Amino acid sequence: MGIDFNTVVYAWIGLAVVLFPVQVFIPAPYGRHIKKSWGPLLDNRLGWIIMEMPALLCCPLFVLLSGTEKSVVVWFFIALWVIHYTNRVLIFPFRMRTPGKKIPFSIVLSAIFFNVVNGLICGYYFGYIGNAYPVEWIYSLPFITGLLAWTVGFAINMQSDHILLRLRKPGETGYRIPYGGLFGKVSCPNHFGEIVEWFGFAMMTWAIPPLSFAVWTTANLVPRALSHHRWYREKFRDYPQNRKAVIPYIL
Ligand code: NDP
Repeated sequence: MGIDFNTVVYAWIGLAVVLFPVQVFIPAPYGRHIKKSWGPLLDNRLGWIIMEMPALLCCPLFVLLSGTEKSVVVWFFIALWVIHYTNRVLIFPFRMRTPGKKIPFSIVLSAIFFNVVNGLICGYYFGYIGNAYPVEWIYSLPFITGLLAWTVGFAINMQSDHILLRLRKPGETGYRIPYGGLFGKVSCPNHFGEIVEWFGFAMMTWAIPPLSFAVWTTANLVPRALSHHRWYREKFRDYPQNRKAVIPYIL
């Protein structure tokens, strides 16, 4: 069983790597990149709630129902997961100012698939394989540096999303140049923060299944940030020239 699970996880990582260049050339068609040619559309807010809900539920429920004894460290990992996804599913969609905007049903379906597989992989790992981290693990270097990275990444993601969500007045749907926080360095600090967060999570757990989630997050968000960056530079003549796309000073 263990070998089969590992094979699934490595295949899942391989798929993220293969799809990375595809996502660079074909931007995911939602938000500013929406394309009506991608089939039937759904209300944007409803779409976000539906597609992110499996991420909030799958991993924690799987762990809860696995029936094995779990150490307190495992529950701490699950608490971080729930904190992140409570915001993404139950708070973020209600703060979005996207009145009348739509999201393709095909994007919602593919996000559900992505969130279910990630949730099951991490849930199976925490439920059956990594269910017994000793309490002393919290004094280890991976745990401490990973928790630091998770916290910094979460803070950057929250702050940057907050800046973006306040750019529009109620009822508006257009785009402005964002300033403040890490927007001084990159076009998409929200995506940068999310990537740092999940690599921090993988480091804290020092395990391949959570790492597969971080790799997928990178494969989704680096291409999206590159297309946002290109879009900003084409749309705004006065767009700050010194900004990178997603990784400060580098990319
Ligand atoms: P975006 O930066 O594209 O948009 C975030 C919100 O801000 C949207 O409501 C968008 O409106 C609005 N917005 C963005 N830029 C501007 C602007 N310049 N002016 C006015 N409003 C703006 O983020 P995503 O939609 O890609 O992602 C949202 C969150 O979900 C992020 O925190 C991201 O990290 C996370 N995420 C995580 C993934 C993962 O794989 N783990 C995958 C995808 C997202 P509009 O929709 O109208 O463009």
